[in-house]
Amino acid sequence: MNKDRDVIAAIATAHGQGAIGIVRLSGAGVLQILEKMFWIKAEKYHSHTMYYGNVHKDNEVIDEAMLCYMKAPRSFTREDSAEIYAHGGVFVLGEVLYAALEAGARLAEPGEFTKRAFLNGRLNLSQAEAVMDLISAKNGIARRAALRQLGGGLSRRIEAVRDKILSWLANIELSIDYPEHEEEAKNITEILSESDEALADLKRLKETAGAGRIISEGVRTAIIGRPNVGKSTLINAMLHENRAIVHETAGTTRDILTEEIRIKDVPLIIMDTAGLRQTADPVEKIGIEKTHEAASDSELILFVADALCGLTSEDKEIIKAYEPTTKIIILMNKTDLHKTEPPQFCDIKTIAISAKNHDGLEDLYSEISKMFFAGSITAEGGEADIIMRERHKILLEQAIENIKKAKSDCDSGIPEDLISVPLRAAYINLGEILGLEIDDDIVDRIFDEFCVGK
Ligand code: GDP
Repeated sequence: MNKDRDVIAAIATAHGQGAIGIVRLSGAGVLQILEKMFWIKAEKYHSHTMYYGNVHKDNEVIDEAMLCYMKAPRSFTREDSAEIYAHGGVFVLGEVLYAALEAGARLAEPGEFTKRAFLNGRLNLSQAEAVMDLISAKNGIARRAALRQLGGGLSRRIEAVRDKILSWLANIELSIDYPEHEEEAKNITEILSESDEALADLKRLKETAGAGRIISEGVRTAIIGRPNVGKSTLINAMLHENRAIVHETAGTTRDILTEEIRIKDVPLIIMDTAGLRQTADPVEKIGIEKTHEAASDSELILFVADALCGLTSEDKEIIKAYEPTTKIIILMNKTDLHKTEPPQFCDIKTIAISAKNHDGLEDLYSEISKMFFAGSITAEGGEADIIMRERHKILLEQAIENIKKAKSDCDSGIPEDLISVPLRAAYINLGEILGLEIDDDIVDRIFDEFCVGK
C-alpha cells in the first residue's frame, strides 16, 4: 500500500491546555472518516464550510466540535483535508485524534502535511522550509524573512538565474549541433559576460547567510573591560530596557552569565564577564582567561571604559588584539560624572554613555542594528531575501563556483561542449534549493525536522 495515499491525522496545535485545539486530517478518504466520527453523511459536506457536530468514538460522544472540510485541490496539501476544532485539553484532543485513527486515518509523521504540499506541487522545497522557519521565528526579522521566502521571494530569484543558465546552455548546444546557425547563437564569450550579473546576484544572496544565522541564533556579544567600569550596570540597563528576555542561564562551560535579549529586533546573546586587569590571584586569573575565551568566541565586543581614565594602554592592547576578527564598540561610561569627548581609536565606533542613567543607550542600539543589518537587510523593512539555511548557502556556493569555473574554462579556450558541464552543474545546484532533482532521503531529512501536525 502506498503510504502517501493514506489519510493522515495529527493534533496541529501546541501540546498543553487551551480553549481550542485542532486535529488535522489530509488524504483522499477524509469524508468517510468524518462520516464515521461525526455521523454526518459524507455527501453532506460542502467545501470550506463550517459544521457543528458531536465527535463519536466507540458509540460514545467524546466532544462537541466545529469542523471544516476543504476539498482538493483547494487545501494546504492540495488533498481532501479537514480541520476539527475541538476543546483544547490534552486528554480530549487525544481522544478526538484516536477517534480519527479508529475511523481509518493513520498518525501523521513530522512535517508530513507540508511534505505532501511539496510533493503535490503546492510549495517548492525552499517554501516548505520557510514554513518551518516561520513557526520557529523568534523575532520580527526572522518572521518577515520566512514569510517572504514562503511567498516565493527567494524562489523567484533562484529561478531567474536558472532560466538564464538554461538559455546559455541552449545557445551552446545550438552552436555545437547546428554550426550553420552559429550566426544566430550568441557566442560563448557573449554568454559568459552575461554571467557577471547572475554571479553578482548569487553572491549578494550568499552574503546574507551570516545575517540569517544571526537572525535565527543571535549575535554572540561579550561585554568586557577593566573592573568597576560599569559592565554589570550596563547589562542590567540593557536587560531592563529590553524586556524580550528569553532565558537566563549560567554558562555551563564558562561560568559566565549569559542572557538572551533583543535590541531593535537584533537578538543578542550577551555575556557578562570578569573584569580584565593584571592580577596574581589564581582564581581571578581563571575568570580573566574565561573572559578572553568568551571574547574570542564573540561576534560583537562591547568594550566598556571609565570616561574619567579614558582608554589605558592596556585597554588599547586588548582592543587591538580583537579588532581584526571581531566587531567592537567602545563605550565610554560614567559620562554623567565626566563629560568628555569620546576618544578616537583605530576607527572604532566610540559612544559616550551613562549606564547608570541609561544615557546613550539608544545610540548603542542603533549602532548594533546598523552593524548587523546594514545594506540589504533592514531591521524595519525586512524587504530583502535572507539565506537562513546552511543547505541553501552550500548550494549557492557550489553554483557560484560552477559558474566561475565555466568562465575560467572559457578564458582558457576550453571547447564549448566542456564549458556546458559546470553550467549544467550550477543549474542543478540551484534546482536543489527549490527541491528539484533532489534525492528522496534529503527530502525526508528536511521534513523530519518539522513538528508533527505541520
Ligand atoms: P563592573 O565591575 O565593570 O561590572 O562595574 P559595575 O557595574 O559593578 O559598576 C562599578 C561601580 O560604578 C558601581 O558603583 C556603579 O554604580 C558605578 N557605575 C556604573 N556605571 C555608572 C555610570 O554610568 N555613572 C556613574 N556615576 N556610576 C556608574
